[in-house]
Amino acid sequence: MTANLLDFDLDGLAAFCERHGEKRFRATQLFRWIHQKGAADFDAMSDLALSLRGKLGGIARVEGLPVASQQVSQDGTIKWLFDVGGGNAVEAVFIPEADRGTLCVSSQAGCAVGCRFCATGHQGFSRNLTSGEIIAQLWFAEHFLRRHLEQDERVISNVVMMGMGEPLQNYAALVPALKTMLDDHGYGLSRRRVTVSTSGVVPMIDRLAADCPVALAVSLHAPTDDLRDRLVPLNRKYPLAELLAACRRYLQHAPRDFITFEYCMLAGVNDSVAQAKELIALLRRAGPDGWCKLNLIPFNPFPGSGLTCSAPNQVAAFAEVLGEAGIVTTVRKTRGDDIAAACGQLAGDVRDRTHVQGRIARQRAVPLQPFEATMAAAKED
Ligand code: SAH
Ligand code: SF4
Repeated sequence: MTANLLDFDLDGLAAFCERHGEKRFRATQLFRWIHQKGAADFDAMSDLALSLRGKLGGIARVEGLPVASQQVSQDGTIKWLFDVGGGNAVEAVFIPEADRGTLCVSSQAGCAVGCRFCATGHQGFSRNLTSGEIIAQLWFAEHFLRRHLEQDERVISNVVMMGMGEPLQNYAALVPALKTMLDDHGYGLSRRRVTVSTSGVVPMIDRLAADCPVALAVSLHAPTDDLRDRLVPLNRKYPLAELLAACRRYLQHAPRDFITFEYCMLAGVNDSVAQAKELIALLRRAGPDGWCKLNLIPFNPFPGSGLTCSAPNQVAAFAEVLGEAGIVTTVRKTRGDDIAAACGQLAGDVRDRTHVQGRIARQRAVPLQPFEATMAAAKED
């Protein structure tokens, strides 16, 4: 089996090249062809020595993920379903905005954490993605969008590890993928614009601080251990006090001077004003003024969840109480919900192959107009 070069960050690729008698600068050239130009064919890499191109053909390949479907939302959001084999698929979502383009990337097929309110959690855990499968989502999306928009400049400016899976439970594969996103010879993204979202794997938060500090978002969802134990089962292992202490430690290394806490608004479960006050007390005990921001996510329903989203006025009241206490609070706009691309709706299960085939067939009919309209509007702004 040849090596898939998407699996390597630049250091890994340099080591691979050295093992085959090639100098580091060759690895840099190769890395740039792959990630900056989107090339997969060694023969097309015109400034690489012919002998090297020939050698690579025998030992290596650049293999992305097959796209099982592409759906475009009315708001311009695009969701791709990638086939990762064995009946599993993962999803990536592109969210165009006036001042940025964000790609939401998956780290696992399914998820073992099993949060109550999450479609991926309900589906269970299938397997970890490889580094190559994580970066392949960005590699594909970035170069697809550039081709589509007929432009050479970068389209994706931000990456959030908020697709399917718990990134910090797939740490070994996550870090090389993050490094490739940040590398100037790769995607050159700023550390502040790459966000890892975690349900709270405490030891790995510390490791991320040491190995590859990027922006951190932590899925909180509850002001007490009792409630969080029920919503995010991982809380039984790493309770709130430990989690918040790890967040404080992370701040010393973080590219931003705050941690973002995500809080999914569930009607009658975690959305009362009394709970907002408990949350304020918890966050005040845990750190100095301004050490965190809160992002309220209206719950996105999915079949069989048995939960409903808080009413808009309840979300507003909750946000107001927090805001008055000096905690910067935003309410996340829901994007792509008409194509089930919103937070927590991703459940790329393709155990039934005929279903995938159906989706591929449908995909051909999907127009890109809503996406083009959004990009055009963004350019005019
Ligand atoms: N596993 C990581 C990252 C993926 S989930 C984590 O849990 O942080 C990304 C975000 O979507 C998390 O904050 C998660 O709590 C939230 N989320 C999950 N299901 C949701 C749903 N049905 N509605 C709204 N947000 C949801
Ligand atoms: Fe996993 Fe995150 Fe979903 Fe929880 S919210 S089940 S950690 S993907």
